[in-house]
Amino acid sequence: MNLLEIQNLKVHFPVQQRLFGRAKEFVRAVDDVSFAIAPGETVGLVGESGCGKTTLGRAVIKLIEPTAGRIVFNGEDIALLSGAQLRARRRQFQMIFQDPYASLNPRLKVTDIVGEALDIHGLAVDASARRQRLEGLLKAVGLDPSHALRYPHEFSGGQRQRIGIARALAVEPRLIVCDEPVSALDVSVQAQIINLLQDLQQERGIAYLFVAHDLAVVKHISRRILVMYLGRLVEAGDSASVCRSPRHPYTQALLSAVPVVDPDSKRQRILLTGDVPSPIHPPGGCPFHPRCPVAEARCKIEVPTLRTVKPGHFAACHLAKGD
Ligand code: SF4
Repeated sequence: MNLLEIQNLKVHFPVQQRLFGRAKEFVRAVDDVSFAIAPGETVGLVGESGCGKTTLGRAVIKLIEPTAGRIVFNGEDIALLSGAQLRARRRQFQMIFQDPYASLNPRLKVTDIVGEALDIHGLAVDASARRQRLEGLLKAVGLDPSHALRYPHEFSGGQRQRIGIARALAVEPRLIVCDEPVSALDVSVQAQIINLLQDLQQERGIAYLFVAHDLAVVKHISRRILVMYLGRLVEAGDSASVCRSPRHPYTQALLSAVPVVDPDSKRQRILLTGDVPSPIHPPGGCPFHPRCPVAEARCKIEVPTLRTVKPGHFAACHLAKGD
């Protein structure tokens, strides 16, 4: 059974037209997205900034209220849960944020930042048990437990992200949404954090939804990849299949920007022209057509649906061919 099943999820934000006026337009940040994550699996979610991936990441764990759709977590639709019912489930899904500088309260010591989750969910029976769990968590993320009384500003960027990971791990979640967890870090530190996340997954069987704009990072860590453009999934499939044989021109362009090690590689960079169109007024037909280098006349009229190009690999393009 899947741990998480997202079915036709929509997140539309109203655009207020005038004071006291009713919203007439909506930002379609997430528009009819479906996918699933198995227990212990990493699914990468990639796209340019503004494509809706952060909104989607937050909506699947109900940090943002969805407009429509189902969020089936462990067999239960949590989309309509709120209040105490939702809080009781929150232990099972956590989030690691992009900015380790902004996501930690600068006035709290590490012991309080990480221990707060233990206290809220009553996971330590007394002070001694709390201290022991805290020590275990800090060791698990590669931090020195003797630094538990320090404040966030006394740590480096990578160490702060480790504190954020320890905070997420404290409640023993089954799913962690990692929202660009390494993009604010130095390249040398990025690999350490990725390796840590992979080790923790192996030890604890946690599933990750790994959100990033950098396909090189997503490719490395994910078993499956979802590519998002203007609030919709345009390609999805097994990581090796998507990266070796991308079927959607947008994925092809993203992949062409990933550096290759082979100096003899003949791969050409595909440069996309123009900006991502407004999600308030998305283009008709294929939403990618104004930027697509191979668009045809019908692309301006007909909306492509996500269809199977080979088992486990889907693309939303009229020209996408199967094997
Ligand atoms: Fe390009 Fe047309 Fe495919 Fe859209 S449907 S990605 S415009 S070729």
